[in-house]
Amino acid sequence: MICYGECVECLVRHKDPSEKELHQCSYCERTFCLEHSEPKLVHIPNFDSIIKDSESKALEMIFKREYSIEGNHPCFQYTMAIFDEMKLQEQMRERLIKEAIDRMMATEPWWKKFQEPLKPMKIQTLTKSSQKRSMKKIWIVTIGLLLLGLILIPYFIPRLIPQLLDFLGIL
Ligand SMILES: [Zn+2]
Ligand SMILES: [Zn+2]
Repeated sequence: MICYGECVECLVRHKDPSEKELHQCSYCERTFCLEHSEPKLVHIPNFDSIIKDSESKALEMIFKREYSIEGNHPCFQYTMAIFDEMKLQEQMRERLIKEAIDRMMATEPWWKKFQEPLKPMKIQTLTKSSQKRSMKKIWIVTIGLLLLGLILIPYFIPRLIPQLLDFLGIL
């Protein structure tokens, strides 16, 4: 089944909210446009100094290759899979993951944090449908409150005005 909608990467990186054909990432299961549907490593800020410490040429090559990719989306689950594949030393792995999480927490938009709480070592990803459901709930509550306000204001104002006038009259 082909689905259409906005691509989060297009939205965040190019401020492009237009509807596109969406494809699911097999790692994080989020959906993106064709240009962004393939995963890439998440950006790790102090990667240069970490690599220097480790003297790992293989790791350096992987990072350089991944960072030169233009499209795709930074994918946490894919990054973890690469680290697993490389059989990194535990200490190194922890350092890279910590840097990646710090970076994500610092740069992700607030609503993304709200939708996808990141717990160290246990990454929860909401499916597209549950994201949609929670957005729907927020909309229903907002519209409900607005309607309630619209109904209550004309109901109370005519009743309040005579009382207000009485009150002023007493004064
Ligand atoms: Zn896109
Ligand atoms: Zn992904």
